[in-house]
Amino acid sequence: MSVFTQQDFADHEQVVFCSDDKTGLKAIIAIHNTNLGPALGGCRMWPYASEDEAIRDVLRLSRGMTYKSALAGLKLGGGKSVVIGNPRTDKTPALLDSLARAIDRLGGRYIAAEDSGTGVPDMKRMRKLTPFVAGVEEKPSDDGMRSGDPSPSTAYGTFVGIRAAVRERLGRDSLEGLKVAVQGIGNVGYDLARRLHEAGADLWLSDIDSRALARAEAEFGATVVAADEIFALDVDVFAPCALGAVINDRTLPQLKASIVAGAANNQLAEPRHGLALMNRGILYAPDYVINAGGIIDVYYEHAGLDAGRSELIAHIDRIDDNLTEIFARSRREERPTGEVADAIAEERFKG
Ligand code: NAD
Repeated sequence: MSVFTQQDFADHEQVVFCSDDKTGLKAIIAIHNTNLGPALGGCRMWPYASEDEAIRDVLRLSRGMTYKSALAGLKLGGGKSVVIGNPRTDKTPALLDSLARAIDRLGGRYIAAEDSGTGVPDMKRMRKLTPFVAGVEEKPSDDGMRSGDPSPSTAYGTFVGIRAAVRERLGRDSLEGLKVAVQGIGNVGYDLARRLHEAGADLWLSDIDSRALARAEAEFGATVVAADEIFALDVDVFAPCALGAVINDRTLPQLKASIVAGAANNQLAEPRHGLALMNRGILYAPDYVINAGGIIDVYYEHAGLDAGRSELIAHIDRIDDNLTEIFARSRREERPTGEVADAIAEERFKG
């Protein structure tokens, strides 16, 4: 495959291929942009079917991190790493050590964090060999918002973003009686559902894990629906918190919600679906703007900004300001919210 001509290669500062015969490590570290600071991004381990697939994934994801951090107002650039392999069978301590040494050789231009296929214990192990790993601190707190796991902060930011979208589209501040469909009640979705329930919203939930559903049904008085039914519900907000590409040609015509706002990454199957949402009068909170709570949390931890949790929460609260600006500009310029978000991010990191 030709790397330089890949559409996703555009503007990458550096892409590093790492291999280690002794440990079986095959990894790619992509640094998209460091104008605003070191490139922080998750380390994903996945049994990619081909090297091409791994390259495409790492390039696309690292670019996305530049936009996400710039929009969140962080002194960070964008990067990502992928390890080719099955995390269940191939993730050995020796492989993680080998990866840590590869990250260390980049001298801090890239900072790793957990992602699919890696977890806080893996990051902790790697941290012994390199300081360029984030999301490792276990800090007790009343609501669990400062720990190695960024999910509670992501859920809080998504909640803040839903409030901003409701104000914009429905002209109200209270979430009392708001009808919300949450797709996926994993780490983020469950905590989001809890916050929405506490704010008085009525919930419809879907997941493929029936035990999690039963727990949420009892705890939040929610209505459980089948995985395929979540799109067509007559609700105010559809909150995707499971998979990417859920806004596509099949699901879009089914949507009755007037707002799409959730934590899942890459919700639009293609950019044109952002325009289609706008044309149908559905307000879309761009995924990487509303789900930035996690990266903000990881950044505060890594930068040692421990002056107080109130500063972290105040920073996550700025997701409201960011979305409010995006929604206003989208209205004025008659452009999809995702396009506006990209433009604002570029203004920030391109300078
Ligand atoms: P998770 O794996 O804990 O939860 C995902 C949930 O979705 C699981 O309960 C799973 O059973 C369910 N699911 C899978 N397929 C489904 C389907 N077809 N229908 C309904 N439910 C289905 O993951 P998470 O950490 O909660 O992340 C959720 C989403 O948010 C992901 O897209 C992730 O990339 C994104 N995100 C997470 C964070 C974070 O801090 N964890 C940060 C930013 C973005």
